[in-house]
Amino acid sequence: MDRTALFPGSFDPFTLGHQSIVDQGLKIFDRIIVGVGANSEKRGLLSTGNRVRLIRDIYANNSAVEVVAYEGLTGDYCRQREVRFLLRGMRNTVDYEYERGMMLINQKLYPEITTVLLFTPPEYVAISSSMIRELVSFGTDPIELMPKNIDIKNYL
Ligand code: ADP
Repeated sequence: MDRTALFPGSFDPFTLGHQSIVDQGLKIFDRIIVGVGANSEKRGLLSTGNRVRLIRDIYANNSAVEVVAYEGLTGDYCRQREVRFLLRGMRNTVDYEYERGMMLINQKLYPEITTVLLFTPPEYVAISSSMIRELVSFGTDPIELMPKNIDIKNYL
């Protein structure tokens, strides 16, 4: 049976750090679904549709990666898709505490789902979507922090 994981997040925008988690995840899983959580309250930098389009452009030639937008709780979406693994990335102890809290809740509510946390490679630990949003708000092109060949201006 194929092993599939859901990599959920806001991805506003998807960064080199996120890409490193997908790349590592593909060494463990046969397929990864990158799930952009559509949160109606948060109007971010990119629309949900453009967040999805950006990630699809990165993985256009990789059939092991599917990119979707989903609404509601991540665990419910996993059940809907019959996915039993949640993939997340961890940069530091702040991420660790947050991820552990989510994992414990998910373990109670969705005992069939296993959370897999991967360490961020050191060259990407300082990269965050919020840093990119800040740079863009000041008119700076965050090209060094974005996956190769991705120009954020095409998605704003
Ligand atoms: P969320 O709002 O769900 O935290 P994000 O899009 O910020 O969504 O992050 C999605 C996942 O990617 C989280 O597990 C987060 O810890 C991880 N992540 C964020 N930035 C990086 C990075 N630079 N390197 C590796 N993982 C990261």
